[in-house]
Amino acid sequence: MTVDNEVPRRHRVVVIGSGFGGLFAAKHLKRADVDVTLIAKTTHHLFQPLLYQVATGILSVGEIAPATRIILRKQKNAEVLLGEVVGIDLENKTVTSKLLDWERVVPFDSLIVAAGAQQSYFGNDHFEAFAPGMKTIDDALELRGRILGAFEAAEVTTSADERQRRLTFVVVGGGPTGVEVVGQIAELADRTLAGAFRAINPTEARVILIEAGGAVMPPMGPKLGLKAQRRLEKLGVEVKLNTMVTDVDYKGLTVKEKDGSEHRIECAVKVWSAGVQASPLGKLIAQQSDGTEVDRAGRVVVEPDLTVKGHPNVFVIGDLMSVPGVPGQAPGAIQGAKYATKQIKSELKGADPSARKPFKYLDKGSMATVSRFSAVCKVGKLEFGGFIAWLAWLGLHLYYLVGGRNRIAAIFSWFVTFLGRGRGQMTITERWVFARRALEQVRDQETPRAIG
Ligand SMILES: Cc1cc2nc3c(=O)[nH]c(=O)nc-3n(C[C@H](O)[C@H](O)[C@H](O)COP(=O)(O)OP(=O)(O)OC[C@H]3O[C@@H](n4cnc5c(N)ncnc54)[C@H](O)[C@@H]3O)c2cc1C
Repeated sequence: MTVDNEVPRRHRVVVIGSGFGGLFAAKHLKRADVDVTLIAKTTHHLFQPLLYQVATGILSVGEIAPATRIILRKQKNAEVLLGEVVGIDLENKTVTSKLLDWERVVPFDSLIVAAGAQQSYFGNDHFEAFAPGMKTIDDALELRGRILGAFEAAEVTTSADERQRRLTFVVVGGGPTGVEVVGQIAELADRTLAGAFRAINPTEARVILIEAGGAVMPPMGPKLGLKAQRRLEKLGVEVKLNTMVTDVDYKGLTVKEKDGSEHRIECAVKVWSAGVQASPLGKLIAQQSDGTEVDRAGRVVVEPDLTVKGHPNVFVIGDLMSVPGVPGQAPGAIQGAKYATKQIKSELKGADPSARKPFKYLDKGSMATVSRFSAVCKVGKLEFGGFIAWLAWLGLHLYYLVGGRNRIAAIFSWFVTFLGRGRGQMTITERWVFARRALEQVRDQETPRAIG
């Protein structure tokens, strides 16, 4: 174990996470008289809103996940450490991270925790092996492998039932992510893969969206939810509302309808986008505070200044924070990062922490694509959908994509896919589908080094 030496030093800010919260926090401290250590368990900054386009062959991994180290290369006061944070000691002001067998303890004066959230299976974690979520690059590549692999298997099998099963795709969860991915699976089958097989007709694939509630995308309101639903149905997607998934296995899943009846859907590809659970680091911090709690999703119920009780130097931001009226979306994380770093900077110049103004969230609206040329958009009371909303979606996502090269590459990829029928990222490998499971097995056998 190594402990960083106590030498004369500047104010040290440790940032956990390289997502929207973590990366923007580190960047906002660029000109501050501080040393920043950003610790994350992935080497990249992931633009999660476009993961579904990696899963469905539109964008490459590099376009949505540039290396954090390279982004921060010119920021001399920032260092990047790869590692999983396994311990936070609020009393002694240290963060412990692990990479392989190495443990690193980093002291801090201020801490910004932006560790985000993971997929939630509501206590049914065994569903995950059969129905991966969409939170990481690994998830997206595994899903791409499963989706395209299902068409390949359908082409080869001589069993009509198995062919039908392979050509049935189910997305669980009718939030924006579920709507976006299901729309893209339908377009992939109908446009990109049409005519590419000989034994099967990909356009006959059955694509199903299952939602436990009575509408898709409830936060967008009934009008836009219905609009998105109609558009999906036009694409041939079966939208099943008021339907609960009660079991998932290799062969398919079991659903319970509103009237209580249960039945099976045999399907090879299942995608889970039904809920989120905050990083366990939230609970770890709350337990050490003077009474801060976590909500049901494990998010930290922060003070008005985004800190935990008794520790004004510990900020929790992004998907890990619970603030009334702030949705778990990128703008909340970005604004939280800006707010927290602003407090750190002004207090270095002598401002009093007890005089902080509370965090105020500016709701810039939300949007989701349904298919090419079609999106829904809600800004305050203004609700609109269709092509204009899609253009707005396009512009906004380009704006937030990190790196000029990535923006140009994304524009080119979208041009190919939306104006034509092609998709530039149709590569799949067996390892993408099975590697994660294999690694998990290796870890279960307690092999000391699963990677490296
Ligand atoms: C599929 C999908 C689609 C989305 N679409 C939209 C959208 O259209 N619009 C929108 O506004 N929002 C969207 N969101 C939500 C948005 O991406 C999140 O709100 C945002 O990423 C939250 O930022 P964050 O920094 O809090 O967490 P994240 O971006 O999740 O980053 C968390 C970081 O913490 C790191 N980390 C976690 N645990 C540890 C640990 N123990 N040790 C070290 N590092 C750790 C991770 O590696 C990661 O770098 C979407 C999310 C998903 C998953």
